[in-house]
Amino acid sequence: MNNIEGIENRNQVDFLKKVNLLKQQFGDSFYLFDLEKLSTNYLKMFSAFSSRHSKFILGYSYKTNYLPILLKEISKLGGYAEVVSRIEYDLALKIGMNPKNIIFNGPLKSSEDIALALKEGSIINLDSFSEVEFVKEYTQKNKNKHYKVGLRVNFDISIEGKSPLQGGFKQSRFGFCVENGNLEKALNDLKRIENLDVVGLHGHFSTQLRSLEVFEKITQKLCDLSKIYISNTLEYLDIGGGFYGNVPETMKINNVPSYDDYAMAICSIMNKEKIHFKNEPFLIIEPGLSLVVDTFKFFCKVVDVKKNGNEYFVLVNGSVHNIKPSISKKNTSMQLVKTNVACYQTDRFNVVGYTCMEKDYLMIDHVGEIPKVGDFLVFHNMGAYTIVLNPPFIKERPPIIAKIGNEFKAVRKREELDDFINSNVYVF
Ligand SMILES: *Cc1c(COP(=O)(O)O)cnc(C)c1O
Repeated sequence: MNNIEGIENRNQVDFLKKVNLLKQQFGDSFYLFDLEKLSTNYLKMFSAFSSRHSKFILGYSYKTNYLPILLKEISKLGGYAEVVSRIEYDLALKIGMNPKNIIFNGPLKSSEDIALALKEGSIINLDSFSEVEFVKEYTQKNKNKHYKVGLRVNFDISIEGKSPLQGGFKQSRFGFCVENGNLEKALNDLKRIENLDVVGLHGHFSTQLRSLEVFEKITQKLCDLSKIYISNTLEYLDIGGGFYGNVPETMKINNVPSYDDYAMAICSIMNKEKIHFKNEPFLIIEPGLSLVVDTFKFFCKVVDVKKNGNEYFVLVNGSVHNIKPSISKKNTSMQLVKTNVACYQTDRFNVVGYTCMEKDYLMIDHVGEIPKVGDFLVFHNMGAYTIVLNPPFIKERPPIIAKIGNEFKAVRKREELDDFINSNVYVF
């Protein structure tokens, strides 16, 4: 056993005591959130960039994991909120965010959403011509005030003719396309509005590789476009998210860039280009995964071990939905916490969940010591997209326990029937 809860060399007996304590308090399956690790990640990433570009804003991508206590911690550390829907915007307000420190992105904003963001002075990046129309209407009705918007841009980021976009898509669906003239058209439409400036460009692309090369390309392109179109009004360039976080060795990905590598690549271009702008622009990044992925673990208990045909099936009181919403067949890193003293046999086995779906596998064809009833299995790196994409399906979602200093506290309690099917919402 090593590196559990970030503490090296904690021996098995100690850890077992801790798991038993958590179990008694919180039940047999739960997520464990490490608040300290979150702030370490935040401060590391923040200083990597701010030490190289002083006008720097870090906006955390809410959709990646919107556990309120996590959002509050990021807000306390000075992070902005990056939201992509009205409900996320309202959540940011509920967390106590200053609306000026909210970045409102996403492909679907209503005219009311846009009016609110403009009125409150949030940073807003438009995604489509419908949104340009909403801006026209609002600024027309409020001629006595001055407003600012940014535009999400869409351009070819392929490398050696290959698209690096997630899912292998050739063309990104977001923003205003540079190559077909739509960006220029949108800029011209908006420049006709007297009480409005276009002050920023936004270039978030989700790529499979998360490579430095892609970020260099995005940064350079945003600089070049700003020089051509908005050099006098430019206030920020927003590079978006899509960075790697701490990647466990078991994932066997080579050349994972560090926060410093990303910052060096992006900031060197920003610093080289700043002479072309009237005022030095802010650099904005919107990390999600890279800040939170390693701050969550999932614990579940072994309930049964059986053999069907020649295969071992280890049944746990968790599900693939708790660890892998994509239901991919790729195994993640798993740790066995033994509660039995008997000797353990090494063989090939599957770990399967509580749902009634054949495909509910947490691990497929894994080779290791076969767990025994009562043992715990721990799955690492569950912080990004796992919690938010976990459906309430068949069984309530597991509670979330936060490790705050040396204390453990339920920050999402165990759900009951009324949380599963909320009687304020559903008609009985
Ligand atoms: C999802 C998203 C992010 C965060 O992406 P990660 O890959 O989790 O870092 C940032 N910005 C926008 C606009 C997004 O949609």
